[in-house]
Amino acid sequence: MALKHLKVKSLAGKIFTSVLAFTLGIIVALAAVMITIYYVSYEHDAEAELAASAQDAARYLNATPSADNEPILEAQFSGLTRYTLIAPDGTVLYDSAADTTGMDNHADRPEVQQAAASGEAVTMRYSETLGTDTVYAAVKLDDGSIVRLSETRHSLLSFLGNMLVPVLVALVVAVVLVFVLSRVLTSRIMKPIDALDFANPLDNEIYEEMDPLLTRIDEQQRQLKQQNAELAQAENLRRDFSSNVSHEMKTPLQVISGYAELMKNDMVQPADRQKFAALIYDEAQAMRSLITDVLTLSRLDEAAFGDEATPVDLVATAHRVAGRLESFAAGQGVSVQVEGACALIRGSETLAEEMLYNLIENGIRYNHPGGEVVVSLGMEPVGVVAAGEGAAAWVGARRPEAGEVVVRVSDTGSGIPADLRDKVFERFFRVDKSRSKETGGTGLGLAIVKHAVIYHGGTIEVEESPTGGTVFVLRLPAA
Ligand code: ADP
Repeated sequence: MALKHLKVKSLAGKIFTSVLAFTLGIIVALAAVMITIYYVSYEHDAEAELAASAQDAARYLNATPSADNEPILEAQFSGLTRYTLIAPDGTVLYDSAADTTGMDNHADRPEVQQAAASGEAVTMRYSETLGTDTVYAAVKLDDGSIVRLSETRHSLLSFLGNMLVPVLVALVVAVVLVFVLSRVLTSRIMKPIDALDFANPLDNEIYEEMDPLLTRIDEQQRQLKQQNAELAQAENLRRDFSSNVSHEMKTPLQVISGYAELMKNDMVQPADRQKFAALIYDEAQAMRSLITDVLTLSRLDEAAFGDEATPVDLVATAHRVAGRLESFAAGQGVSVQVEGACALIRGSETLAEEMLYNLIENGIRYNHPGGEVVVSLGMEPVGVVAAGEGAAAWVGARRPEAGEVVVRVSDTGSGIPADLRDKVFERFFRVDKSRSKETGGTGLGLAIVKHAVIYHGGTIEVEESPTGGTVFVLRLPAA
C-alpha cells in the first residue's frame, strides 16, 4: 500500500547520496594529496640525481685535458640524458641530441648564466609545444666551459592527465560500491523497523532515536483505546436505554390492548366499562409520560437545549409547578409550600421547570397522606454549607465572585436509603418499583433533573430531612 505523503524520500537514496558524496570527497582529496606528494618527491629526486650526474661528468672532464672533452663525452656519457658542452662564450661545442652547427649561442640560458656565476645550477623549463618539463643541471668546468645535462619528463599537467584514467576508474568503482553499500546499509537499518510491533510500541528493542516516536505512538494508541472504550460504553448505555424503554412500553401496551380487546368483544359488563376505560386511560398516560421523558432525555443527550440561555426566576417557576401539581398533591393528601423571594439563574426556562416539576412531583409521590413538600429557594455565597445539612463541604470550581442559588426540595416521605442515594439518578432506577409505577413514575425523572442541573452548571445532592424524608439540594450559579 502506497502511503500518501507530501514528500516521499527514499532512505536508500539518502544513504547513497550521503555516502557517495563523502566517498567522492575522500577520493578526490586523497588523489590530490598523493599526486602532489608523488610529483614533488619525483621532481626533487630527478633534480638531485641530475645534479649529481652533472657533478660526476664535470669531475671526469676536469681530470682530462679539455681538448679531449668532446670525444670523452661522446664515448663515456650516453643514454637518455642529453649532454651539452658549452664554451665560456656560449658556443655549443657538443650536444648529444642535436647537431651543434645549427644551434644558437647558449650564453643566455638561465642555467648557463647561473653556472657561470656560481659554479653550478639546476633549473627547469616548461615547453608549451611539447607539454613537457625539462630539467637542466649545469656545472662550470675548470677551463670555464660548462657541461649541461638535461632530462625531459612529463609536466604536472600531463602527469595529471595520465592520472585521470585511474582516478576515473576509481570513481566508477566507488559509485558501484557505494550503491551496493547503500542498499545493504538500508536493508540493515530497515530490518528492525520493518519488524516493529506497533501493537506494543514500547516492547520493541530498537534504536534509541526512535524512542520518542514509539512513546508517541503508544500514547496515541492508549488514547484511542480509551476513546474506543468510552464509545463502546456509550453505545452500551444507549442500547440498554433503548431496551429499557421498549420494556417499559410493553407493559402499558399489553394492558391497553388487553382491556381494549375485552371491550371490543363485548365481554365487559356495562357497569365495569368506565373502570376499564379508566385503566386504559391511566396506562396511556403512563406511556405518554414515558415518551415525554425519553424525548427530553434525548434532547439533553444531544445538548439540544443549546444557546437559548435566558434569565429564569426559579421562585416564579416553583410557584407555577406547584400550581400544576396541585390536583396531584391533593389526590395524595400532600401539601406543597414554596418559600423564597429571589432566585435568579441563567438558562433554559423549560428545563428549569422540568427539573423542579420532577423533584416536587417525587416529593408528593413518595410521601404519605398528610405529609408535605417544602421548596425553599434563596441566594447563598458560594461554598457555604448551611448548619445541620450534614453534607460534606462542597468543593468545586464555580465563579467565586457570584453567589449561588440554592434550592432545597424536602419532603416528609419515607426517605431514600443512604447507599442508594447516588443510584436514584440512574435511568430507570427505582427504589420502590410498585410505588413508582402506581403513581405514574417513569424512572427517568431524576436522570432528567441531574442532566438539567449539569446543563445549568450546578450540582445536586440528596440528604435526609429532619423528619426522615428526603431533601434534594440544588446549587446553581446565580445570574
Ligand atoms: P420515578 O419516575 O420512579 O419517580 P425518578 O428518577 O424520579 O423515577 O426517581 C427514581 C427513584 O428514586 C424513584 O423510583 C424512587 O424510588 C426514588 N425517589 C425519588 N425521589 C424520591 C423521594 N422524594 N423520596 C423517596 N424516594 C424517592
